[in-house]
Amino acid sequence: MIVGVPKEIKTLEFRVGLVPDSVSELVRHGHRVLVQATAGAGISVTDEEYVRAGAEIVADAAKIFAAADMIVKVKEPQPQEIAMLRPGQTLFTYLHLAADQKQMEGLQKSKAVCIAYETIPDAQGRLPLLAPMSEVAGRMSVQVGAHCLEKEAGGSGILLGGVPGVPAAEIVVLGGGVSGTNAIRMAVGMEAQVTVIDRSISRLRELDEMFGSRIQTLYSSTDAIARSVAKADLVIGAVLVPGAAAPKLVTRAMLRSMRPGSAVVDIAIDQGGCFETSRPTTHAAPTFVEEGVVHYCVANMPGAVPRTSTFALNNATRPYVLALADKGWKKALAEDTLLRQGLNVWDGQITNAEVAAAFGVAS
Ligand code: NAD
Repeated sequence: MIVGVPKEIKTLEFRVGLVPDSVSELVRHGHRVLVQATAGAGISVTDEEYVRAGAEIVADAAKIFAAADMIVKVKEPQPQEIAMLRPGQTLFTYLHLAADQKQMEGLQKSKAVCIAYETIPDAQGRLPLLAPMSEVAGRMSVQVGAHCLEKEAGGSGILLGGVPGVPAAEIVVLGGGVSGTNAIRMAVGMEAQVTVIDRSISRLRELDEMFGSRIQTLYSSTDAIARSVAKADLVIGAVLVPGAAAPKLVTRAMLRSMRPGSAVVDIAIDQGGCFETSRPTTHAAPTFVEEGVVHYCVANMPGAVPRTSTFALNNATRPYVLALADKGWKKALAEDTLLRQGLNVWDGQITNAEVAAAFGVAS
């Protein structure tokens, strides 16, 4: 099979669909891989590295879309990319279609086989191709939070770990799932005082096992959140209710109870955010101050660390890319019911139940 990797064209997107290790694996399996020139430049991977891995470098995207049986990307296809998709061609990437009518219509018209990273579950019902980005966002949340607490960022001027003789900062993590757990790891590593609040007792038990006396666990309730937020220097919002907007766990009144110059990092902003005062920001202007509290609400945090994010994503996508290339999409999907749930659009029809429900049609 011919696998194509165009350079990402969405504004400020530096990640790339395949890293050289993924390319060489595909080549070892007997496939040809076409990579657009400078596709890896944003993550400091050169064309020469791709060539050494066995890729053929192609100058422009149109030639890749014309020749490839399967296109592997990161972000949803942009209009000029959708226009180049061919009937029967496989597209494997993040699509996030439920809120994107225009893209949906374009993909339906293309008659391509559109498989979305974000709707492929594992045997436990988790989302293995979303998890790496939650890991990145969780780990990043503590380092951006630390920066928000610095004076020149509008913060109260507190060092997370304190120093001998001066107490460490108090960090509250709302939601102890993938991103929350990664935030806790970093916070504990920086020797802050950490409290995690979750509505799942079994999850709190696991976190208690994992971190022992280095963290406090609290069962989620409005009062528990209010009490914890009032004495926190940094609150990290990492909750998720699958398929729903994030619950607004921290009200404006709770925020007012925080010391001026405290900070909040709302990882859940891509689902609307879990602070009443949150609104989405960008890497160009990531923070704002509301009620005296510094807010960091960037919806695509992994975009700031595209190199780590690309390698993390490739580790997760590689087995699926290989299965699709080795078997072709029809056989790969027939043999793997979990991978089949990644199929969002086929031959002009919506094939994923949740996506179809979002558009009010049957799948
Ligand atoms: P997850 O499902 O692994 O964890 C969510 C946790 O929230 C669960 O443990 C759940 O029990 C808990 N929770 C749900 N409701 C709660 C409540 N009322 N009180 C306390 N806890 C509650 O989810 P995740 O992968 O960690 O993702 C969290 C959020 O981060 C999602 O909205 C995801 O889309 C987002 N995210 C954002 C970025 C970004 O760049 N901003 C990147 C990756 C993920």
